[in-house]
This record gives sequence, structure tokens and C-alpha cells, in this order.
Amino acid sequence: MKSSYKERIARRLTWVTAFIFFLVFLLIYFVANVTVLQNIDRELQLEIEEHQGEFLIDEQAVHFMHQGEWEEMEHAQIHLNPIFIEVVDLEGNSLDRSPNLGENQLEFSSSKSKNQEAWLTLVGELEVRQRQVPLFSNGKQEGYLLLAKSFADSRELLDNLSSVLLLIYPLILVTLYLSMRYLAGKSIEPLEIISQKTNQITQQNLNERIPDTGSEDEIGQLTRSINNLLGRLEQALQREKQFTSDASHELRTPLAVLRGTLEVLIRKPRSAEEYETKVKTALVSIDRMSAMIDQLLALARVENGGNLVKEEVELITFLEELIETVSMEKGRKINFLSLVSLPIYVRTNEKSLEMILLNLLENACKYTAMSGEVLLRVGKGTTAFIEVVDTGTGIASEHLEQIFDPFYRVQEALDLGIPGTGLGLAIVKKIAQESSLKLTVNSEKGKGSTFRLEFEETSLGKIKKELSQF
Ligand code: ATP
Ligand code: MG
Repeated sequence: MKSSYKERIARRLTWVTAFIFFLVFLLIYFVANVTVLQNIDRELQLEIEEHQGEFLIDEQAVHFMHQGEWEEMEHAQIHLNPIFIEVVDLEGNSLDRSPNLGENQLEFSSSKSKNQEAWLTLVGELEVRQRQVPLFSNGKQEGYLLLAKSFADSRELLDNLSSVLLLIYPLILVTLYLSMRYLAGKSIEPLEIISQKTNQITQQNLNERIPDTGSEDEIGQLTRSINNLLGRLEQALQREKQFTSDASHELRTPLAVLRGTLEVLIRKPRSAEEYETKVKTALVSIDRMSAMIDQLLALARVENGGNLVKEEVELITFLEELIETVSMEKGRKINFLSLVSLPIYVRTNEKSLEMILLNLLENACKYTAMSGEVLLRVGKGTTAFIEVVDTGTGIASEHLEQIFDPFYRVQEALDLGIPGTGLGLAIVKKIAQESSLKLTVNSEKGKGSTFRLEFEETSLGKIKKELSQF
């Protein structure tokens, strides 16, 4: 079974802390051990300094300078922290020893006298710390003084310390694990709340949001990010709903006209002229629906378009050909102006560019009286650009934002009875986005409009190359 996130956090933190505690405890024990040994060694040194000069050895006999002191209680019996003293000859044979040693002898080692170090050993059952120093008589080494001090107290202290450390180590770890689990649980509680709330949000209650605590921490940021995402989703869904209802509304109008016309026709027999007029009205409705369906399909295709293949297009030739076709179709003159005399190469999807320009030119022709001018201008600023300029009705600034919304048509266009579905510029905007083209509009009511398309910077490389060839 997979453990929960809080358990994993708790476990990892516990492992790390366990390791740190282990090192700290080891250090504590090591420092205590060293300190205890240093203390006892210092005491041994003092004892050695005190007793070293008290002996005289000659001809296998040991003389004590202060016999009385030697037999003092301190050395007579084993009391708390007793000192054991023994004098041995050069071979380690005992010459004399303190009474508290009884039958026991201190350990002799010929090698230990050289390095002056103390070591731990046993006197009978008792653990002692011992040192061994040479004894001189008239400048000549005659034997060794062995000095030992009980290590029982220190051992007890060290044993107690290690028991305490060993006992509290698992206790600390268990307490640590439980508290870390609790704290980790507490820390991820807001995440659980976010997850629960997010799970409850469906298409039906997309307006609901995750409660924002207003904090600036990561949880607060996550909450706001999710809420922003929900906001964007809600808007997208809203647009989608709006689009569907607009589309059905727009389709229903010509359908209703069609139905009405046909109903009128079958009510009673009509004259041939009447039939002709009504059928013509019906055909207009059918054309309107069919145009709208074409536009809707075009929009759907752009939305599902995905990656458009970009190819190298020479703008001047491409635009000249396009103008020729549009002029013929619309039956009006479209002027062309190239601000650059050299060929302009851009990387773009030709079909998309064509669709954008067809829509813009169609609008320019539609919303400009025959006496007005429609101009297509191409040039190169920082990047290549195309402008569709007309001297038509123009668009008031308050409508400029909305004209790119699906089905939006300026009231004036409706009033003038200019046919259209309001989908053209929505398609243009979508394709421009897909093709990374910057689309801007400049328009003044009554004076005309300029729709400008700018290509990406990358298109300039080729232009520069071309220029350098000349
Ligand atoms: P269609 O879907 O057939 O293109 P449409 O031309 O009405 O219909 P859009 O091309 O999306 O729709 O244009 C939206 C609105 O913007 C138009 O109805 C018109 O009011 C306004 N408009 C667009 N281009 C121009 C222009 N060149 N001059 C004046 N008004 C324009
Ligand atoms: Mg249009």
C-alpha cells in the first residue's frame, strides 16, 4: 500500500533527525568518556608527583621515606576511589605494595613505562586506571612505581550515561515521528481542503471558488492560481454557451423567414409573380444560412486547426494575385501599394493569410461606398506588414473591441441592411492568433478604417538577406 504524503514527510524527517541525534549522542558519550579519562589521568599524575620521591631502593630493599603516611587509611583499605601503589624492580618483581591491594598485584608491562600513558586494567574484580613510572636511585633506574586509581565511579557514570542515551533515543524517535506526522498532516490540511473543493466543482457550479485565506504563501498562491484557472474556464464556457445561443439565434432568423414565406405561399394559390418574389425571398434566407454555415465551419476548422504548416511566401506577388481575384469577384477596383520595391519574403501559412485578407477586403468593399477607395498596402517596418485601408463608414471607437466577437455587428451595418453574419472578424482574429500575426485596427467613424497585419520578427531575416543580394 502506498503511504500517504504526510507519512512520507514524517518518515524522511525522522530518518534525518535520527541520524543527527545518533551523531550527537555519540559525541556526548565520546566527550564524557574523554573528560572522565582526562580527570582520572590528572589525578594519577598528581599522585605520581606526590609519591615518586618517597621511595629509596637499594639492594632489593625498598625504603619508605614517610612510613606513617604510607600506612595511612587512604592506602590501607579499599574505600571510595582508592589509590593502589606498588613498587616493582626492573623485571617487574613486586618489591612492596600498598596494603589495600591485599593479595592482588598491579599489572606490569615493560613496554608501557616508555610512553607514560595510562591504561585501564583490572585489580581483582575492580576496574582501575593505571600508570607506570620509572624509579631512580642516585640517577640509576632501580625499578618502577605502579599507580592505579579505581575507575568504578567513572565507569558507573559512563554506563549510566550510555543507558540514558540508549533509552531516550528510541523515545525521541517515536515522539519525533508522531509529532512530525501530526505537523505534516496539519501543513497539508489546506491542500486537502483545496483538493476536496476542486473535486466538488463541476460544469454546473463553475462559478464557485476555493476559499482564499489571502495569505501570500505557497498555499495562497496555489489557491489563487486554481481560482484564476477556474475563472478562465468559466469565461471560456460562457463564451461557448453564448456562441451556441448566438449561432442558433442567427440560424433561426432566416429559418423563420423561410418558414413564414412558405406558409404564406401554401395558404392559397398565387400568381406566378407572387411565387417568384416569395421564392426569391426564400432563396435569400437560404443563402444567408448557407453563408453562415460556411463561416461557422471555417471558424470550427480554425479552432481545430492545430499546427499550421508555414511556408515561404513572397508577399508582393501573392497580394497582386489576390487583389486580381477579389476585384473580379466584387466587381470593384482595389488599389495596391507596395512601400518596398524589393520582394518581401515571410514565413507563414498561405491559406490562412489568404483567408484573413479575403475577409478584410470583403469588409472593406462591403462597408465602403463604390465612390470610396479600398487600398491594400504592403511594407516593411521592423517587420513586414500588410494594411487593408478603406474610406468607408468607419467604426466608432466604442465598437472597436467588440467587432472581433462572434456575431457582433455594428448597428449601423444592420440598419443599412448590409448582409453579413458577424463571424468574419472572429475568424480573422482566430487565424491571426494561430499564425502569430499581430492584428490591429484603426478606424474613425465616417472616415474609414485601416486593418493592419504584422508578421513575426523571423520573417525579417529573409528580407535582409534578399536586400544584401542587391
Ligand atoms: P461576415 O460574417 O459576413 O463577415 P460581417 O462583415 O458583418 O459579417 P465581421 O466581418 O465580423 O462581420 O465584422 C463585424 C462588424 O464590424 C461588421 O458588421 C461591421 O459593422 C464592422 N466592420 C468590419 N469591417 C469594417 C470596415 N472595413 N468598415 C466599417 N465597418 C466594419
Ligand atoms: Mg465581414
